Amino acid sequence: MPEEAAARISWFIRLRWLAAAGVLAFAAVGHFLLGLQFTFKPLVVISISIALYNAGFLFLADKTRPEGKWGDRFASIQVGVDILVLTLLMHFGGGIENPFICYYLFHTIISSILLPWWKVALQVLFASVCIATVAIAELAGLLPHHHIGGLLSIELYANWKFVAVAVFAIITTLCVTAFLAASIAQRLHEREKQLAKANTTLAEQDRVKSQYVMRVAHDLAGPAATITSCLQLVTKGLTGPVPDKAMDMVQSAQRKSKFLGHLIKDLLSLSRIKAAKEIPKTEVELQEITNQVFEDLQPHVAEKNLTLEQKIPAALPAVYGNAKAIHELFCNLVTNAVKYTLVGGRVEVSAANKGDEVLVKVQDNGVGIPAEALPHIFEEFYRADNVKVEAIEGTGLGLSIVKQILNTHGGKIWVESEQGKGTTFSFTLRVAGESEA
Ligand code: ADP
Repeated sequence: MPEEAAARISWFIRLRWLAAAGVLAFAAVGHFLLGLQFTFKPLVVISISIALYNAGFLFLADKTRPEGKWGDRFASIQVGVDILVLTLLMHFGGGIENPFICYYLFHTIISSILLPWWKVALQVLFASVCIATVAIAELAGLLPHHHIGGLLSIELYANWKFVAVAVFAIITTLCVTAFLAASIAQRLHEREKQLAKANTTLAEQDRVKSQYVMRVAHDLAGPAATITSCLQLVTKGLTGPVPDKAMDMVQSAQRKSKFLGHLIKDLLSLSRIKAAKEIPKTEVELQEITNQVFEDLQPHVAEKNLTLEQKIPAALPAVYGNAKAIHELFCNLVTNAVKYTLVGGRVEVSAANKGDEVLVKVQDNGVGIPAEALPHIFEEFYRADNVKVEAIEGTGLGLSIVKQILNTHGGKIWVESEQGKGTTFSFTLRVAGESEA
């Protein structure tokens, strides 16, 4: 899961800003508030260096997208540099007497989350060597000892028994922590893998279910169309005179059979998109699609005396997608806007280029969507109460189809609406060329 590795590394980098600020804060509090006597300057220089090399890591992470092997190596380098800097801090802050020596544990835990077990073992070995070297070098007088005055009344760094016990305690603590953290992280990774596998199986089962729905909808479409056209022959009087009462019944049946036709068509569309593993994509011009959709809807627009406006700049780049699916996406949203806008209202489709995406808005000043319905409108078969009360017909599948189409195109959709004032659906599609790789 490469994206996850990159996210963990950026989390690690964010933590380091805290560490840099923490060192500076501790140095200031210890020096000015607690009156501890220690060499202040090296700690300030170290905290500034942490911030500087962290900026370097941030730059590298942005430029190289640390994933896979490079991700591992990048995390190892960071942990290694941190351990070296921590060792410098330990040395200038009292050596083996420094109470912050336990901070090595943080890197052991972080390595266990980011790295494979053998690299965690290497990092623990490296930390142990650093700690032991500083402690022994100070004990032997090879390195100067920086005592923190005001903290300890006696100097323990020169007592070999204390040094041996302290080094042993910190190294064994690092080893046990590494073992515990690595085994917990390992179990979590395994659980993640199991979940990912279960997710793939569920998606496959959902696809098989959609294929079944698609077959059923396909088989129903023919007979439903035949029923509608037979009823039409009767209502148009082509089969001879029909008594008034019978005509009412036939007209009602014709309305219902037309609705059944819409429902079957929507079910077929939805299941077709869900059942497809991949759909072919090419460059698609949104202006062309919008013009086609406006033309198809002209009779409804004229009937309601609506103003239909298109604000798509001629220079808008083509998007990368399936022309048929994008036509269906526009058709569903504009049909809804026309359907749910009252006589004399206004519907506008606009688009703008935003970097490697195109942002499209379908706006109307129609009946709007009640606030409590907004979280549900993309659910299958969901219809808001206000449109049911107004007896505006619909299947409740149009927006689910829209959402599925955008999912297969890597786009997002969101809605803003106020009941009685109007609705704006906004969605994104990828610019062609940028996304085809
Ligand atoms: P339907 O066939 O009912 O239009 P959709 O899935 O397309 O089904 O829409 C779901 C519901 O979202 C609609 O029933 C309606 O309540 C609401 N809706 C969608 N678009 C609009 C709009 N432009 N204005 C007001 N309500 C809308």
